[in-house]
Amino acid sequence: MANMALNKVPMPEQDPKVRARNFKEVTLGYTEEMAIEEAKRCLNCKNKPCVTGCPVSVRIPEFIAKVAEGDFEGAYEIITSTNALPAVCGRVCPQENQCEGKCVRGIKGEPVAIGRLERFVADYMMDKAAAAVKPEPNGHKVAVVGAGPSGLTCAGDLAKLGYQVTIFEAFHTAGGVLMYGIPEFRLPKAIVQKEITKLKNLGVEIMQDMVIGKVLSVDEIMDMGYEAVFIGSGAGLPRFMGIEGESLIGVCSANEYLTRINLMKGYLDDYATPVIKSKSVAVVGGGNVAMDAARSALRMGAEHVYIIYRRSEAEMPARKEEVHHAKEEGVEFLNLNNPVRILADENGRVCAMECIKMELGEPDESGRRSPVPVEGSNYNLDVDTVIMSIGTSPNPLIRTTTHGLDANKRGCLIVNEDMLTTKEGVYAGGDAVTGAATVILAMGAGKTAAKSIDEYIKSK
Ligand SMILES: Cc1cc2nc3c(=O)[nH]c(=O)nc-3n(C[C@H](O)[C@H](O)[C@H](O)COP(=O)(O)OP(=O)(O)OC[C@H]3O[C@@H](n4cnc5c(N)ncnc54)[C@H](O)[C@@H]3O)c2cc1C
Ligand code: SF4
Repeated sequence: MANMALNKVPMPEQDPKVRARNFKEVTLGYTEEMAIEEAKRCLNCKNKPCVTGCPVSVRIPEFIAKVAEGDFEGAYEIITSTNALPAVCGRVCPQENQCEGKCVRGIKGEPVAIGRLERFVADYMMDKAAAAVKPEPNGHKVAVVGAGPSGLTCAGDLAKLGYQVTIFEAFHTAGGVLMYGIPEFRLPKAIVQKEITKLKNLGVEIMQDMVIGKVLSVDEIMDMGYEAVFIGSGAGLPRFMGIEGESLIGVCSANEYLTRINLMKGYLDDYATPVIKSKSVAVVGGGNVAMDAARSALRMGAEHVYIIYRRSEAEMPARKEEVHHAKEEGVEFLNLNNPVRILADENGRVCAMECIKMELGEPDESGRRSPVPVEGSNYNLDVDTVIMSIGTSPNPLIRTTTHGLDANKRGCLIVNEDMLTTKEGVYAGGDAVTGAATVILAMGAGKTAAKSIDEYIKSK
């Protein structure tokens, strides 16, 4: 019988005061009983609006029906027929703008907790899923540059078709942003690595510490007998504001800060990675990355952490859940504020940031009301650390070392609808093509590229 409760079954979470000082996962996941109760809220709609909101078309009502019956293995099979990283997507996808944003139960009350159910099924099956059977090799070799969600998905899909796939990854660990950017308390790294192990079981080879463009070029990879290359190198190059004081000691990009803490395990006492120990931190920006940096700074021991965002909360690009969690943990939001310059003490270290108050004016080309400075409202905010989180763009290394690979004005690789770049046999997708976007879009691009690469090689 359907469960007509208006609200989702609540997600068990660590207490905000406790979790704000540790790196353990914030949300604890549904129990079997909770998952079944929540699954019964699904109406199994004929026209499946939720599926149209999912970039990889997970068969949502079908997997939820299996959860409602207690057949979690059946649910897992349905999810993984279109989504290779369900434990990741269940945790980090912006469901409110995707599947849950379209769910009919959301018209009156809360939508079905599709993300939480996906996570439950993936976690339930994490160690139970049968080891992947390595497919018969088809005799063709494909190279993938970058082991983020786009590269991993492309590699997995090609391996399932029998291709011999090698991923060349710049870092010493595979996973891309899932490992170096999104913090442990939101996406435990052991889970990412388990998903990667599944790919390795399919026969995908991952070569780490391989910065393509330095140790090998894409052209050289093609000369090594790889018939096609997929570039999924992301958008890891941080932007800065260009204001006075940005090169002072105590200013860094969110990417650097998070990489030190996550990938280099700077939050653990037995790792030697240096991370700035701050008392008072300003994080500039209003996206997911800013929330992750702010919440990490709290956990690293800062007494005050401010989000400095030039528009109002309504325009904030970060997921609502992240903003809510950050507030609960004690992050202080200074919306409608913008940095003007960063000030130093006598040792050249950050001691304050001059800010100006903003108000919202007419909508700009993004459709959002543009922030306008309020004349004479400048003030100094006492901080010892400034973390810049105002966006990233693709690193130019690969495109500048590859013949015939064109990019647009923002440095993003140009591809057609098959994810083919301007160079024959070279495909690309994810943030390297779109600029900073989402995990699921990167995965969707990897999937499309795998299909195109298969067709290309077969047609040769
Ligand atoms: C802090 C943070 C939080 C985020 N939170 C969310 C979220 O909650 N939900 C969500 O959906 N999205 C989130 N995102 C965005 C999401 O993580 C990205 O859109 C997604 O990871 C892009 O996948 P990708 O495969 O294109 O690139 P990446 O994940 O960036 O992976 C690219 C890989 O390529 C490697 N590489 C780069 N250059 C080279 C080279 N020259 N040679 C070899 N390898 C190379 C990199 O080391 C990296 O491993 C977040 C991003 C950040 C930074
Ligand atoms: S829209 Fe909501 S209620 Fe309808 S099938 Fe999808 S998840 Fe179930």
